[in-house]
Amino acid sequence: MYDVVIIGAGINGSAMAYELTQKGKKVALFDMAGIASGGSGAAGAFISPKFSKEGELKELIHDAFVYSMKFYESHFAHLLKKSPLLHIAKDEKDSQTLKYYKLHTDLQLKSLPAKFQKNLQNQALEQESVFLEAGVVHAKLMCEALSKSTTFFQQEVKSLVYADGSWIINESYTAKDVVLATGAYKTLLHEPYIELRGVWGHRIDIKTSTHNRFSIHQFVSVSPEIDGVTAIGATHNVHYHPQKNKEPYNIESGRAELLQKALKSMKLEDIEVIKDYTGLRSGSFDYMPLIGQVVMSQETLACCKKKVRVKRPDYANFLYYPNLYMINGNGGYGFVLAPYLAKMLSEKIVSDKEINPRLSPARFFARWAKKLT
Ligand SMILES: Cc1cc2nc3c(=O)[nH]c(=O)nc-3n(C[C@H](O)[C@H](O)[C@H](O)COP(=O)(O)OP(=O)(O)OC[C@H]3O[C@@H](n4cnc5c(N)ncnc54)[C@H](O)[C@@H]3O)c2cc1C
Repeated sequence: MYDVVIIGAGINGSAMAYELTQKGKKVALFDMAGIASGGSGAAGAFISPKFSKEGELKELIHDAFVYSMKFYESHFAHLLKKSPLLHIAKDEKDSQTLKYYKLHTDLQLKSLPAKFQKNLQNQALEQESVFLEAGVVHAKLMCEALSKSTTFFQQEVKSLVYADGSWIINESYTAKDVVLATGAYKTLLHEPYIELRGVWGHRIDIKTSTHNRFSIHQFVSVSPEIDGVTAIGATHNVHYHPQKNKEPYNIESGRAELLQKALKSMKLEDIEVIKDYTGLRSGSFDYMPLIGQVVMSQETLACCKKKVRVKRPDYANFLYYPNLYMINGNGGYGFVLAPYLAKMLSEKIVSDKEINPRLSPARFFARWAKKLT
């Protein structure tokens, strides 16, 4: 019997594994294809704030950025490459946003040293930009390190049944609590209000004779050179989905797009593409992550329809799956958000500490239920 079973060993499941094992829980981690085999394995894993004007998502990512940089540095410094990040405006609108950002952020901004400018294209140097201290983590090794104190099963979870006060997983394993960290894959629950979309992305590792020591984000992100390798990522391909498209993904055109976008910002010479990574990032329809307990939609409608279909429903009136939680919908900021969200969710599981209701999956249930006739 485990205290907690986590399903999905991407950055969300791995960060949960770390928090829960640190809190003394006996944890089993399941992934059908291995640790960091989903979107997390494809990520460039840049740790960066969101360069936008005000908004709850920007604030959340800002707080997560500050928290996660300290978290990775304190516990996994060997897997974090701290490096300055230059974020360059893509167009005039972006330039106005960056001007606003620079005036209002409490992060320490730097001026770009002349020696860093030699690798940039003239057009990039002419644009508005923000330069600050940030980092990049090693995606796969980080997930492995976070989850190392769990019992890991490479196994697809096909059945999840609650009986006599505990969860039975694949008819063989039992746990008091279950955390679903399944990313853009099919959810195990068949709850119609949980709709996550997977946005396809492609990242490449290259070798180049151009030596670069900082991250550059403009049309795509280019990493600093780490052990002779530079990462370029990622595309956002909303038209391709591995389960929906009949044609296979065109790796060559993905590579060409990445290189063409990177070369608009940087002078990169003698390029050799050495590896491709592709995957889906899972995002919610209001772009905010989903963490917390999961509402049982049919049971809640059956018992409490009147309390659900009001202007501002009280989520405490909904019925939830017992001891079942989810963590998902990090979009393009999985490695920034996961340590911060996992801390919140693990405190909910262990100490019943309240989570901001704006992050609750219940918000989607409330919207879905209101639309029912
Ligand atoms: C190309 C690309 C570049 C990116 N770059 C960055 C970046 O620079 N910085 C950043 O912060 N974020 C980045 N992201 C986003 C980030 O990768 C995602 O937000 C993050 O990976 C989401 O993690 P996850 O754990 O929710 O999902 P995933 O990593 O997809 O993990 C879900 C796991 O669940 C497993 N699973 C699903 N169903 C089952 C089941 N029934 N049984 C067993 N296992 C199951 C899957 O095998 C998978 O491994 C990028 C994403 C992509 C695709």
